[in-house]
Amino acid sequence: MRVAVADCWLELCEGDITQQAVDLIVNAANSYLRIGGGVDGAIHRQGGPAIHADTARRYPDGCPTGSAVISTAGQLAARYVAHAVGPQWNGGRNNEAELLAGAYRRALELAVEHECQAVATPAISTGVYGYPLNEAARVSLRTVIDFLTTQKRPEIVRFVLFNAETFAAYSNALAEISPPGK
Ligand code: ADP
Repeated sequence: MRVAVADCWLELCEGDITQQAVDLIVNAANSYLRIGGGVDGAIHRQGGPAIHADTARRYPDGCPTGSAVISTAGQLAARYVAHAVGPQWNGGRNNEAELLAGAYRRALELAVEHECQAVATPAISTGVYGYPLNEAARVSLRTVIDFLTTQKRPEIVRFVLFNAETFAAYSNALAEISPPGK
């Protein structure tokens, strides 16, 4: 699924983000930038030790929730990884939507600052962090669409969704936000 936003493309596909060949891969990191499970574990496994060596050296204090930091992509088929820290879901009482939006916004700003044309991102916070899928889809897609509309960059933002349920939630949300033909 693919929709045009300003001069850019917003794409959804089902797959493993570590297999993407893009300029920048977004990671769903934790604020300590410790190697975790889920997509973070997969990115570190596939990219090798250079990624953690780089973040440990450059960001010894980690990264606040709702923001992102950039590193080498090691052996991944990308130039950079943006480690974006989404919120843990706590019933919507802890400013989760704004923090989730902030994590995407900062990752996209880093992509633009580093002249990245193609970006791949996972569904941040929807795994271990427990953000309800449909709500995460709405907030995440709305944030990316707003960014592309105002900044007109990067050229491609591709959500790489790990299973059919996640893909369906993001597809439905995108169809609601951006109906085909409009
Ligand atoms: P968080 O702690 O932010 O919830 P997780 O890694 O637990 O991060 O999950 C975030 C999303 O990434 C989930 O939708 C999960 O299914 C997905 N995911 C896990 N592994 C991969 C992968 N290799 N590629 C793309 N998405 C993945």
